[in-house]
Amino acid sequence: MKKITIIAMLLVVTAFSLNAQDNLTVPERHNLTIYGTMSLEDAEEISESHPDEIEILATSDDEAAVHMSEEATHLVHDLRGTHGPSYLYASNAIDAIKQIRHERVERAQQMNFSITEGESVENALQVISQSNIEDQIEELESYGTRYHTTAAARRAGVDLKAKWETMAATYGRDDVSVRLVDHSNASGGRTNMYSVIMTIKGAELPDEYVIIGGHLDSTSNNNNTAPGGDDDASGISVITEATRSLFEIGFVPKRTIEVMAYAAEEVGLFGSKDIANRYGRNNVNVVAVGQFDMSNFKSSSRDIYFVNDSNAIDPTLTGFFQDLLDEYHGPNSGDTITYSTTQCGYGCSDHRYWFENGYRTAFPFESSFRDFQNNNVIYHRTNDLMRNVPGGNANHSFKFAKLAVEYLIEVSKKSTTLSAPEFSQEGYELYVINNNLKYKSQSSSSPIKSLKVYDVTGKRVYRENGLGNAGSVSLNKFSAGAYVINIILENKKELSKKVILN
Ligand SMILES: [Zn+2]
Repeated sequence: MKKITIIAMLLVVTAFSLNAQDNLTVPERHNLTIYGTMSLEDAEEISESHPDEIEILATSDDEAAVHMSEEATHLVHDLRGTHGPSYLYASNAIDAIKQIRHERVERAQQMNFSITEGESVENALQVISQSNIEDQIEELESYGTRYHTTAAARRAGVDLKAKWETMAATYGRDDVSVRLVDHSNASGGRTNMYSVIMTIKGAELPDEYVIIGGHLDSTSNNNNTAPGGDDDASGISVITEATRSLFEIGFVPKRTIEVMAYAAEEVGLFGSKDIANRYGRNNVNVVAVGQFDMSNFKSSSRDIYFVNDSNAIDPTLTGFFQDLLDEYHGPNSGDTITYSTTQCGYGCSDHRYWFENGYRTAFPFESSFRDFQNNNVIYHRTNDLMRNVPGGNANHSFKFAKLAVEYLIEVSKKSTTLSAPEFSQEGYELYVINNNLKYKSQSSSSPIKSLKVYDVTGKRVYRENGLGNAGSVSLNKFSAGAYVINIILENKKELSKKVILN
């Protein structure tokens, strides 16, 4: 536990109670409208250079709880020139002081990560597409701004939900759902912008969650023009394309996968804080959280830099990400991706509150932070557009998308209760997904007369008549083993398919 020194707490409490009682005008500084936390060094520096913009309420070893002006939020960001807001928002003074105590939720994380899904990974790597990433980056840039208070940012959330739903429907995935998360009443920072969450339900371990995320909002020196191409349209596009490639290869996960586009990261991690706190409060069993925030401006010699700040990053999961690159992109792989580590500093992205809630986090970044500060000239500028990154394409992000899909496949694991993804004969489709047998006729001319399921001994274990042209049958009631599904059509034709349930 850290030692906390409360500096002006008494004063603050007095001011509150006076206000509450009789609206007395106390000599408070009206420009100080925001509570938050930041590194003590930054707080002291701003306090010295701009004493009217900040008040330090309490300090711990190296952090400060502060009451500050809007101006101070920009000052602290500019001071470090690092990624992320450089401060964390708090809803009031008490919340801010609590926050610098850093009481990370204790949570037993027993999962051992392993690399076992080479076949699925190789298949996914064949279909993952750089041009899809480029198209989506430009699509997101075209909002002009996604600054969290704008109508465009709210629309971007609604549109992304529709895009993800269409993507799932295109591949016939009814194990996928997409929802908007409303943060308009969030206690840790309110915004009218939505976060968006896509859920791919795990076929065998649905209560274990593998999370991948990035932030949908953007910012710049003029928030009316904040295209946010690299920061962080590149991250959203990477996680979208990684997921699409899973659908294309018919991958059904054992564990539940959730893909998250967070709202309002740039102003203090509002969206991810709200979501991570909700998951934490409900003790959701999240086994891993991968953060993809900025992936397309290469300004270091290596390709990927893993953030390793000890107050927000889990070394085990980060090591596993590195294992994935060693396995699939080593020096002799023909598709080498090099990596190193870096530190990003205070509150630098959405993984922060997942970590505070006791979950394992990893954050692969586009450069070392030193090189990023020196070289990424479009960061938080009105010209943060893909055409202004080196190469003018999504070549750098493409590497992150490969890592993303490897992470999703190897942590969620391919479900083995399922047969081969699809079967097509005589205009009929017959396949198993999420423990359901699905059948569908391309034409209405000859519906299914009967469906029977036989076990390995040839014994009929299930029969249903008059199924029509499309529908599904739950296979949950069957124990592990091989089965033959047999359907007879009204036109007397017969189709059979072998499935294995493990
Ligand atoms: Zn960002």
